[in-house]
Amino acid sequence: MLPTTRLLLQSTLRRSSGAAASASASSQHDRAKTIGFIGLGAMGKEMANNLFSKTMAANPDPNVAFVIHDAFEQSITRFLTANSSLHPNRRLMTASSPAGVASLASTIVTMLPSSPEVKSVYTEEGGILTGLQNLSGPAASKTLCIDCTTLDPLVAVQTAATIKEEGNVDMIDAPVSGGVVGAAAGTLSFMVGSDSVETFKQAEPYLALMGSRAIHCGKNGNGLIAKIANNLLLGISMLGVTEAMLLGTAHGLPANVLAGIINTSTGKCWASEVNNPAPGALKGTNYSPPADRDYQGGFAARLMSKDLKLALGAASLEGVPTPLGQLTSSIYEALGTNDEFKDKDFGVAFKALSAALGREEFRQERK
Ligand code: NAD
Repeated sequence: MLPTTRLLLQSTLRRSSGAAASASASSQHDRAKTIGFIGLGAMGKEMANNLFSKTMAANPDPNVAFVIHDAFEQSITRFLTANSSLHPNRRLMTASSPAGVASLASTIVTMLPSSPEVKSVYTEEGGILTGLQNLSGPAASKTLCIDCTTLDPLVAVQTAATIKEEGNVDMIDAPVSGGVVGAAAGTLSFMVGSDSVETFKQAEPYLALMGSRAIHCGKNGNGLIAKIANNLLLGISMLGVTEAMLLGTAHGLPANVLAGIINTSTGKCWASEVNNPAPGALKGTNYSPPADRDYQGGFAARLMSKDLKLALGAASLEGVPTPLGQLTSSIYEALGTNDEFKDKDFGVAFKALSAALGREEFRQERK
């Protein structure tokens, strides 16, 4: 175990009332009722917060725990610091590997960056598969893996097939929409790919603690197809709104007047109404878009770039033409690899294009 984590865990132990928090299971440890969470980043820490506080608040059983793991010590420390004092009597455990999580928990939620991390956490050395293979006796209760990462649907299907081969285990893809705000509020929408309806139903109670909607999209991989199809449209519509807002404001139309017109007309969409990329466009409304905070927070341009590449990859497998998607992807690739823009909300396209405003190559003589 990482040294800082050990220290924090020890202080949790001292404050806890009898519940033995340790990285190894006690003889009474109830794996069947224990939940594990891997990937405590921007989204994962909020989702795990909800899952931990809502399940553990209702379950005082000292043999039931909540187990966490992340590749970065700071993510674990941050979670322990926030939750140990809020729920001092609940068993919050850390595991030093995904295999460790699998040995302690029969329901495992993962929220990782993308395909390489999902492959590594599930099927490579020290992964969930290794943990499952080492289970024996009563500890070998049925396992449910819920992966909420946005990754390549093909990798998700292959990973689930490999995991399921182990027997007594099922795995679903359950990517989300709703962003960090929705993750914190517990109002995420889950798009679920699951070969089995029964497995979807088993996952539903856990998803309901982290979100307000879970839709069964069909077989494994279909949740991800739904997610990347939505984000393909989102990227395209954000660039459309960016160009329209730039056109209006360059001609002297106030951003909020133009946004007000678009949002009561046929051009209205989420990117214009909730996450308008032009600063000040939503002044006087209930929305507070990242554009009004120099694009801090929100959905990073680099993540949009990743999702567009996933969408184009999936489209090409079926020969789907994507002329707008390719153009949009090339713009987000440039933003997603630029140090000034990559970590800012994807509405930052407005700022980047504003910088090119008035350039000769875009100008045409008035007739
Ligand atoms: P993030 O980078 O903030 O978090 C990822 C976490 O995974 C980090 O804490 C990292 O340390 C951990 N991690 C990475 N590799 C690991 C490994 N091998 N083992 C254990 N832990 C590992 O990302 P995020 O913003 O939380 O996004 C997570 C996923 O959700 C991505 O697929 C993203 O596309 C998707 N998503 C994000 C948003 C958003 O607004 N941020 C919205 C919807 C969906």
